[in-house]
Amino acid sequence: MAIIGSGPSGFYAAEAVQKKVPGVAIDMFERLHAPYGLVRYGVAPDHEKLKSVTKVFDMVAGKPGLRWFGQVELGRDIQLEDLTRRYHAVVLATGAQASRRLGIPGDDKPGSYNAADFVAWYNGHPDFRHLQFDLSGETAVVVGHGNVALDVARILLKPVDELASTEIASHALEALRNSKVRKVCVVGRRGPAQAKFTNKELAEFEQLAGVTAMVRDDELTFNEASRFELESPAGDEARRNVVLLRKFSDVAADAVSPNERCIEFRFCLAPVRLEGNDEVEALVLERTALTGSAFQQGSRGTGEFFLMPCHAVFASVGYKGVAPANVPFDARAATVRHVNGRIVDESGVQQPGLYCTGWIKRGPSGVIGTNRNDSVETVATLLADLQAGALGEPAAGDDIADLLRDRGVDFLDFQAWSRLDAFEKQTGARSGKAREKLVQRHEVRAALQAVAGSSLTCTT
Ligand SMILES: Cc1cc2nc3c(=O)[nH]c(=O)nc-3n(C[C@H](O)[C@H](O)[C@H](O)COP(=O)(O)OP(=O)(O)OC[C@H]3O[C@@H](n4cnc5c(N)ncnc54)[C@H](O)[C@@H]3O)c2cc1C
Repeated sequence: MAIIGSGPSGFYAAEAVQKKVPGVAIDMFERLHAPYGLVRYGVAPDHEKLKSVTKVFDMVAGKPGLRWFGQVELGRDIQLEDLTRRYHAVVLATGAQASRRLGIPGDDKPGSYNAADFVAWYNGHPDFRHLQFDLSGETAVVVGHGNVALDVARILLKPVDELASTEIASHALEALRNSKVRKVCVVGRRGPAQAKFTNKELAEFEQLAGVTAMVRDDELTFNEASRFELESPAGDEARRNVVLLRKFSDVAADAVSPNERCIEFRFCLAPVRLEGNDEVEALVLERTALTGSAFQQGSRGTGEFFLMPCHAVFASVGYKGVAPANVPFDARAATVRHVNGRIVDESGVQQPGLYCTGWIKRGPSGVIGTNRNDSVETVATLLADLQAGALGEPAAGDDIADLLRDRGVDFLDFQAWSRLDAFEKQTGARSGKAREKLVQRHEVRAALQAVAGSSLTCTT
């Protein structure tokens, strides 16, 4: 089988098949020179423990029968037909590669950024290396109440010396060293009971050296439906968030000394437009009120507007999948059309041998571990189809590696990645960092040349 994408869902799909079909041949294709998807390019660099899940993925990659092809992109180097002609089954595990914009007037002004771009930039994603973020103003606003919003706020505020030992990209570390940002406001349309961030992420602001966390008393109020949510068993995470937010609300704004940095959590505020002459100077917000029944509350504008002066705005309003060519896609949900991981067209007709898992299947939700169950479901569907004789025999008998060589694709195998991995750790150690990520293609090439006995092409 072929798996496209080597993020968590791709590796968990491989693991699930390996468990059920010993000796199965799996080819995994990854567009970048490094595996692990958002574990490498999304998870914040100061969340080092979470990154240790890559050891599980390395074990999966090391099992006989699995070949990893780095620097091979579906749609650029290989097409879907190349795969369906050569494999019994193809599993798409390409994640959610795009992000949603605020979609308000002024959104395109310098100083208006996508949180997803900022995250990819500080994590050393090759596609985002060229970006520049103007951190010369004192106040930044992050729009969104999820964990990614909190990651962005924390990276903006955390003492740079604490980031310096992580695997954060050096270009980002340098920019953050010169950052003038002192205050970050995290705003969202709904109330504290509806915020999507987890208690663990929120609690980090209690411990952040030199950073004071604040909430306004008048925004820590709850209507009847919100009180019901908080008292329900399903409201456990939100209840614990509210306990913390109450602690933050005890802090008076004038308690923050001029040398200190601060974060302010703001609720029931909808972004309306970005103002400024040549660049962002303020975000106009409308106060909102919650409507609807418990656990389904939306927000509506109240007609009360105000201006929040700021120099940078980071929109953290969600990731979305990108349609792979010739695969049925639900544009509204930005996910591949499927039933239990089996790809189907608009009328529900199965696309033989095509499956999906992870964020491209269910959208951008859940933690790394959520992808394990998701992939187990997809693999169960695939194996049921195999048993039912629904998977056709591949038409082409040649090896995909030969096709890639014929096309002049400089692909990497997992041994090459392991050498790059060791190289990154070694170069990082010299400056006290967990690793110094190789970001650009020419750096990857040079590193491979520097490591004795390496080759740019697959050796298997
Ligand atoms: C900013 C951020 C922070 C997060 N932090 C945490 C956290 O702290 N803890 C936690 O548990 N979860 C966290 N998550 C969630 C977690 O990262 C996701 O659940 C998980 O990565 C989704 O896995 P995936 O395999 O579906 O997608 P991805 O991880 O995105 O992997 C997809 C892979 O497919 C590759 N690919 C894409 N298109 C192609 C193509 N055409 N050809 C070949 N390869 C392709 C990509 O390069 C990538 O390697 C975070 C997510 C984000 C966005």
